[in-house]
Amino acid sequence: MAPLSDRIRSMERIYLDHNATTPLDDRVLQAMLPALQERFGNPSSIHWFGQQARAAVDEARVPVAALLGAMPSEIIFTASGTEADNMALRGIAGASPEARRKILCSAAEHHAVLHTAKALAEEGWQVEYVRIRPGGLLDLDDLRAKVDETTAVVAVMFANNETGVVQPIGDVVRIAQEKGALVHCDAVQAGGKIPVDAQALGVDTLAISAHKIYGPKGVGALYVQRGTRLRALLRGGAQERNRRAGTENVAGIVGLGRAAKIALEELPEAEKLATLRDWLEQRLLAIPGSARNGEGPRVANTTNISFEGIEAESLLLALDLMGVAVSTGAACAAGAMEPSHVLRAMGLPIERVQGSLRFSMGRSTTAAQVESACAAVAEAVERQREVSRVSAVRRA
Ligand code: PLP
Repeated sequence: MAPLSDRIRSMERIYLDHNATTPLDDRVLQAMLPALQERFGNPSSIHWFGQQARAAVDEARVPVAALLGAMPSEIIFTASGTEADNMALRGIAGASPEARRKILCSAAEHHAVLHTAKALAEEGWQVEYVRIRPGGLLDLDDLRAKVDETTAVVAVMFANNETGVVQPIGDVVRIAQEKGALVHCDAVQAGGKIPVDAQALGVDTLAISAHKIYGPKGVGALYVQRGTRLRALLRGGAQERNRRAGTENVAGIVGLGRAAKIALEELPEAEKLATLRDWLEQRLLAIPGSARNGEGPRVANTTNISFEGIEAESLLLALDLMGVAVSTGAACAAGAMEPSHVLRAMGLPIERVQGSLRFSMGRSTTAAQVESACAAVAEAVERQREVSRVSAVRRA
């Protein structure tokens, strides 16, 4: 038999980790190339070259605004979804009146929000976390109990990156507004998967990221509702109307614009992934000792499954060797895998959290890939359980 490395090189790889990042759409790449080549000017230069680049940036603002139900003037380009989240929280906090020193965020937020809130707490802000119900939805009663006239901002994500659960943002906005608090919504995992209408939702700020919608890495956007006061995160030039200093990533922004246009046009297709996801789930849940994490409304491409008695990290590595790329919700911190804070916030026992994997499909996922991936998971789970049984017998 050929050596393992050769077999790995020649096998078809199946990518089921689209919530981590998506491949660059070729239409996006084609749109970006002129911005990297001919339109190389600095958008702040007043000569022809600069104006070509400036036009490219401003043209890209239109489809991004359309994807988010916003006006182009309400879009600020950033260097990532993370920067957009930081900009929203720090920007709102920095511009809020002295009497509003409280920041609320859901316990299941992405680290881009949670770690910003933690840093703000270290700087003297009062930070509180709103509870998550067992299925993954925000506990609106807990939000009602915690939000008050001292709250500056409530941060709740639209769709969760680990479970795909979609939060009731409209309700969050109504509850927050009764107390005069602003709302930031991290829509990084919602953009291109479900309709996002910032104006209809009534949120004050909303973040997206290009690389989650088949655009390039290192570029994102923050919707800032007209009239919202925001202290700038970065200081320097007057780019983005003094809201985000720094020479624009023109090609990245053009890529985000093209990706946003395609995402809006192909939203019905993205929503159809639910059929394939349900089938994937059905197959995985047929494996003994498996359970789904996340209930209620969910984006169509994501599922999170626990396998009893399994270490998710070992399963992930075994699947990688079999050509299937999935993810644990865990973040690798200082070499140690941290159990998913999202699943912990849902109240799941630690053993179940440690045995859970996220499967996230995308535009190019096929039924045949789902079929092969499920067979690989069933085989790998069975093999790992067998290894555990044998070592238990040896220990006895
Ligand atoms: N928010 C959510 C929900 C995410 O899933 C991610 C990325 O995984 C981010 C924010 C950060 O986006 P970026 O990778 O562009 O910094």
